[in-house]
Amino acid sequence: MPNSLTDHDPSGVPSRLLEMLSATGAGRILREPAPDLGLAEQVPFPFFGIVGQIEMRTALLLSIINPAVGGVLLIGPRGTGKTTCVRSLTDLLPYVETSTCPEGCLPTDLDAEGEPDVCADCRARLARGEAITALDAVKLVELPLNARLEDVVGGVNERIAIQQGRVRLERGILARADQNLLYIDEVNLLDDVIVDAILDAAAQGSYTVRRGAMAGTYRARFVLIGSMNPEEGRLRPQILDRFGLRLIVRGLADGINRLEAYRRVRAYQTNPRAFLAQYADELSAAREEIQAARQRLNSVTLPDSIAKPAIALIQKMGIDSLRAEIAWFEAARAYAAADSRETVTAGDLRIVAPMALRLRRSRFMDEYFNNQQNEEQEVIALLAKLGKKNIRKKKNQP
Ligand SMILES: [Zn+2]
Repeated sequence: MPNSLTDHDPSGVPSRLLEMLSATGAGRILREPAPDLGLAEQVPFPFFGIVGQIEMRTALLLSIINPAVGGVLLIGPRGTGKTTCVRSLTDLLPYVETSTCPEGCLPTDLDAEGEPDVCADCRARLARGEAITALDAVKLVELPLNARLEDVVGGVNERIAIQQGRVRLERGILARADQNLLYIDEVNLLDDVIVDAILDAAAQGSYTVRRGAMAGTYRARFVLIGSMNPEEGRLRPQILDRFGLRLIVRGLADGINRLEAYRRVRAYQTNPRAFLAQYADELSAAREEIQAARQRLNSVTLPDSIAKPAIALIQKMGIDSLRAEIAWFEAARAYAAADSRETVTAGDLRIVAPMALRLRRSRFMDEYFNNQQNEEQEVIALLAKLGKKNIRKKKNQP
């Protein structure tokens, strides 16, 4: 199956976004630009400066265009540019309407009576006819490695509790990630409880925190991006299934590409701002393309004539999880939107198939079902014997 954009033969003229991505050539990037010393990179490595890694970059773009893809998991050894690539998205992120209130109130929050269900502050602002939202760029929120469950889901604000003697619930990282990207590096090393909380929130688009008599429900509609090095521990299979797209990230195979990656990393390390400036035009054009693709997405349709054979293929592969077709079809819709089209083609499905379908089959489930089947046959065989014995017994009766 082709997994490069250059294999695609779209019916129309490819969008500038896909053209730009294809133009960066095949191959893969050598290593991350600098050792991470816990300092935030002020100038992220430019997305179009990365050599190769077309599939990873395509998957990340598709998930920004269509969050319904269900997140991306990057699997590969250290130094293959996973974190660099995720951080490079910062320059491409589109604008969304976000709450300006610390409690995250939105004008669409209505109670059962259709009245605004917002905090007192926002109610007053709405009454005065003021906006409680503003257009803001989608942000990349990184989950700190040492995050506790309390930090992730939020909890009682201890400062207010001590100083003012009242209990107030505070939003956690998940609520702050609403409408943004949430990046978890080394997701396989994170506590199970925290991973489960994040995945549940991601699936529902919201979550509820209870502390004694108090409860708060927060929106958490975010694109989850995880990365992991399989050498450092495996991921529970049920977690693997919950990432829409799965990318296997390898080092650059082509020597010339490795050299080019080395040169770019050196140029970036020497003068990050000058290096970024070389890509400024491409980045701002791509950002507009992504914004346009997001708007186009609602009108992109998937014809039955190609959806049906796709479902048949999933069944033939023995994939049980419904998430397979959700991720596959939504990624194909995003791909068509990025390509300025309103109808998904078989070509779109072909390109995104590997990222949506790989690592979906579970050896455990295969064995489980096989054992189950063997057991059933055993039971049937035993029942048959039992039946014969009974018949014999009856025959022997006088
Ligand atoms: Zn508010």
